[in-house]
Amino acid sequence: MLADQDRIFTNIYGQESYSLDYAKKRGDWDNTKDILAKGRDWIIEEMKKSGLRGRGGAGFPTGMKWSFMPKESPDGRPSYLVINADESEPGTCKDRDIIRNEPHKLIEGALIAGFAMGAHKCYIYIRGEFYNEAMTLVKAVQEARAAGLLGKNAAGSGWEYDIEVHRGAGAYICGEETALLNSLEGKKGEPRNKPPFPAAAGLYSCPTTINNVETIAVVPTIMRRGGAWFAGFGRNEKNTGTKLFCISGHVNKPCNVEEEMGIPLKDLIEKHAGGVRGGWDNLKAIIPGGSSTPILPRSLCETALMDFDALREVGSSLGTAAVIVMDQSTDVIRAIARLSFFYMHESCGQCTPCREGTGWLWRIMQRMVRGNATVDEIDTLLELTKEIEGHTICAHGDASAWPIQGLIRHFRPEMEQRIMEYRKLAA
Ligand code: SF4
Repeated sequence: MLADQDRIFTNIYGQESYSLDYAKKRGDWDNTKDILAKGRDWIIEEMKKSGLRGRGGAGFPTGMKWSFMPKESPDGRPSYLVINADESEPGTCKDRDIIRNEPHKLIEGALIAGFAMGAHKCYIYIRGEFYNEAMTLVKAVQEARAAGLLGKNAAGSGWEYDIEVHRGAGAYICGEETALLNSLEGKKGEPRNKPPFPAAAGLYSCPTTINNVETIAVVPTIMRRGGAWFAGFGRNEKNTGTKLFCISGHVNKPCNVEEEMGIPLKDLIEKHAGGVRGGWDNLKAIIPGGSSTPILPRSLCETALMDFDALREVGSSLGTAAVIVMDQSTDVIRAIARLSFFYMHESCGQCTPCREGTGWLWRIMQRMVRGNATVDEIDTLLELTKEIEGHTICAHGDASAWPIQGLIRHFRPEMEQRIMEYRKLAA
């Protein structure tokens, strides 16, 4: 188990106030000026050393992403940091708790990250439904401004920096980074074709980096304790650090918990979430990384490790590290069908495979839930997911395909049995 002295988020459960005074007592904003004085290159190098990979789902190396930003603007265009707080992936609730209870980690991280990429302005795009969290964040930004930690001479560094909090209107697709940029610009929240990538032409066609809340909130601690310290956690250099895991579903104590990357899935559930309801043997399946990641049956959950590569090796993904536990009482076909409805509902409709395909998936899945289908149609369903996957502008198409692919891979006998039972009843 991660030792308490190695936890980055020491107030994630909100035992203390989120306010600046308390945040400072916990070590936030401690000598931020000195960190900035070390320079942009040092900060980016330290991020690379830490091995931190983006915590929003895609897992792109953060230091490398920052290094894509231009050192100097050749044509006078400003650079921007945009923080994605549009946390909407079902099962995921970590960024919400960071904003509720540790907003100053995010604000200080935004200053350091923005400085490292030559930005003077940061936008935090927060999910519309997070009203209370947005108010907390606005108050924390105001506190930081009043204390001179933001503004013309942010934290006494001589660097001008400010943060604006922008509330979204509740569309899941605005969590996709280019849809988020469109929304921020006041346009329809539709993903953009890439290239150009945001580092070349992002917000208002200016160089932009978009990072997840957790990614930015861990930056100040990495700077203080060193990239090597962070890289010391995890199985190997591609899966480093500590991570917030969200555990929900059929466990005795659902929770968010910070743990070392690569912790066994079974340990995570037994040590932190009070175990599976009715005991481990009552487990049926787990979605390990948020609703879009393929489901794992109990046999794989026994030994699965919670990091990017280990979960890929078992045919799933770490995603946002939102662990959704299902016990034996779960109708797993119905559970995945419900996700199909979600992805159909949230498709922005720009690309035909996603717009039409997600509706097909949902309609076939409804029949699979009842068993009112033929066994051959399971293959049709699988084929349909392959036609969507990789053939769309953004990853939403893939996200709609993967849960069904996981279901067919591991629970095909249950699907076939449902069809047989329906036939017997109908005969
Ligand atoms: Fe929109 Fe879906 Fe295409 Fe993404 S994949 S751009 S959500 S239609």
